[in-house]
Amino acid sequence: MIDTLSMNTAQVKELFASLGEPAFRATQYVGWQLKGVPLSEMTNLPKSLRERLATVVTDTLPRVERKLVSSIDGTVKYLFRLYDAEVIESVFMRYKHGNTLCISCEVGCPMGCRFCASTLGGKVRDLLPSEMLGQIIAAERDSGERISNVVMMGIGEPLDNFDNVCTFLRLVGDPEGLNIGYRHISLSTCGVVPRIYDLAKEAFPITLSISLHASDDEARSSIMPVNRKWNIQALLDACVFYYKTTGRRISFEYTLIAGKNDTEADARALGRLLKDAFRDTGAPLHVNLIRVNEVVETGMRQGTVEGANRFADILCHMGLSATVRRRLGSDVNAACGQLRRSEIRERSQAKEKVEHE
Ligand code: SF4
Repeated sequence: MIDTLSMNTAQVKELFASLGEPAFRATQYVGWQLKGVPLSEMTNLPKSLRERLATVVTDTLPRVERKLVSSIDGTVKYLFRLYDAEVIESVFMRYKHGNTLCISCEVGCPMGCRFCASTLGGKVRDLLPSEMLGQIIAAERDSGERISNVVMMGIGEPLDNFDNVCTFLRLVGDPEGLNIGYRHISLSTCGVVPRIYDLAKEAFPITLSISLHASDDEARSSIMPVNRKWNIQALLDACVFYYKTTGRRISFEYTLIAGKNDTEADARALGRLLKDAFRDTGAPLHVNLIRVNEVVETGMRQGTVEGANRFADILCHMGLSATVRRRLGSDVNAACGQLRRSEIRERSQAKEKVEHE
């Protein structure tokens, strides 16, 4: 079976030509597909063609399994069900500059960051390009609103699923596809260094976001195992290469964990580290501060808002730009991966119950 949502329009036209169908039928089909319309409802395609396509193409569009809507600001947290019954999360947020969807790139995650619920249970599989694109299509169909910004910051490490992520990036920015501008897309990585060099060479004009979270190797390795393979120096060298190759701004994510990396001395050390690494490049340096989500299984504690603001002020005084991330949907937007975890728990309890009966 062929996954046409992972193909561009030219490839779908080739497929239709091989089936003896004219190019305009392929264009009609792609138009429906990008709206998330099932084959049976593609009413301007002849019934005989739809029946034939049903034997050739596969449907990988995620389906809404559960959704939580914030009563504070309308943020929507989706739990999507995939074709093989696996589940992933996406978060739909409304900002003044447009609607943003935070998407997942893998089912689970192999990277093992200590503060993250998505990695508990490891990685199950990569997401297909169509399943990344499909999160946007399904959220647009469900909300009836256009999504103009995408952040790849949900479940999974995008650079661990490099080829599929690159195909997704080509499709999402395609003028004949969803046509979302690359400047409205950011990709967040925990630091898979060789793939940062590869991504720079692909030259997508997206924003790269680095999950840094500590300014010395000992502290970073204790919360992010990836740092034992590629340490901070190797990561920042790759970031400098990325900036020099693409000219695109890099944003550094720093999760504040009480008693672990959130002191004033930590702020000064972070500022020094970034300024030294990017010395002579002229790169604008931005740090996004995030107060950690408390996840029962990880035992991480959240510090105060005042402490986070103080941390940001120190960075700003050192000449960097720093913001404390505003938390949209605080009543529904629990830590990334938690909704999936609770679904997995409920399913296994239901299974146990059936086995006991
Ligand atoms: S923070 Fe990102 S890379 Fe790290 S475990 Fe979670 S999903 Fe994976």
